[in-house]
Amino acid sequence: MKQLTPSATVTINAIAGEKRRNGETVYNFAAGDPVLPNHPCITNRAIKWADSGICPYPPVEGLYELRKLASEWVNTSCGLDYNPEHTLVTCGGKYALFSILYSLLDSQAEVLIPAPYWVSYPDVVKMAGAHPKVIYTKNENGWKLQPEDIINNISKRTKALILNNACNPTGVLYTKNEVEALLATAAKFGLLVISDEVYSGLVYSEQQYVSCGSFSQYRDRVLIVQSCSKNFGMTGWRIGFVFAEEHFIKRLSILQGQSTTGVSLCSQWAAVGALENAAEVNLYVKSAMLKRRNAFLRTFKQLLGIPLQIDSALYAFVPLSCFDVPKEVGSVSFCEHLISTSNVAVVPGAAFGVDDHVRFAFSEEETTIIGGLNQIMTKL
Ligand code: PLP
Repeated sequence: MKQLTPSATVTINAIAGEKRRNGETVYNFAAGDPVLPNHPCITNRAIKWADSGICPYPPVEGLYELRKLASEWVNTSCGLDYNPEHTLVTCGGKYALFSILYSLLDSQAEVLIPAPYWVSYPDVVKMAGAHPKVIYTKNENGWKLQPEDIINNISKRTKALILNNACNPTGVLYTKNEVEALLATAAKFGLLVISDEVYSGLVYSEQQYVSCGSFSQYRDRVLIVQSCSKNFGMTGWRIGFVFAEEHFIKRLSILQGQSTTGVSLCSQWAAVGALENAAEVNLYVKSAMLKRRNAFLRTFKQLLGIPLQIDSALYAFVPLSCFDVPKEVGSVSFCEHLISTSNVAVVPGAAFGVDDHVRFAFSEEETTIIGGLNQIMTKL
């Protein structure tokens, strides 16, 4: 526990929140939190449930109604074949990840993590007592993990690979052939594949989303982490899922039963509301985020003359060189400078394992996006 570091995004977001509470105008590009009123399907369901006035302990593995709807949603949207017995409801995707790593790995295990990675992966692996083994992907390869990267980094202790598709922070999407090649290599070395798919519903390019769960021959080693946070704009409700073979779900349910006892019923009913109307609620969030992505790309190009590409998720992963900062300035000092002089909150690339980049989230309103980018250009 002593090795744990606070989440960089949560920390910067907290500084931004504090400044806002003090009445300052802050341009927050730090948190990937779709700032959008909940779709009424969500709140109506939660209110209806609260009005019933009955609130017992939740079923440990989640409401059957929710597990059914969630498995139907991934089956329809990602071409999968899961049922409620393959589904666990967790306190967000973050606890889903923790619960997989904590329940399935032993203390000598090594876990492969492609960088740039989501900030929490290395620490969650450490919390499980295992060891993160970071693999640095290259911008020239579109930041994509290659099968040979797995081969070159494998050891006798390697037990799992975390693959994040669509990726935070790069927005990278893997094709069917690429996913299949990675799964085949992982299978050759007997690795579990923990597939973080929490942005599967926020794809802006024409490319078809490919889930690791859609290859039946590798299904026995794949655990899918999903969430209502981003796909349905429900971050604060804290609803995530694991989809996997039944014996995995049973193992994870033991940890859940002995730790959280399950997820708040109010949140679970809210998620039922979202998933009863999954396509509509996802479209509501995705259309808003697409507009914000476009505003970000347009303004960035206007102000810096640099075109960026963002195919999915909620982020732009931008080289520091775009801002003409001297080479010796690292991402942490750049971000500290921005928040203190310009009230613009962005996350240092160092937190994602790549120090010469910074990450902008475009999940707040267009006025914040346009105002914040202009503010950077006037103050830098
Ligand atoms: N995975 C990735 C890649 C994320 O970016 C996040 C949140 O930012 C999560 C998982 C966890 O999301 P939540 O716990 O809100 O479901």
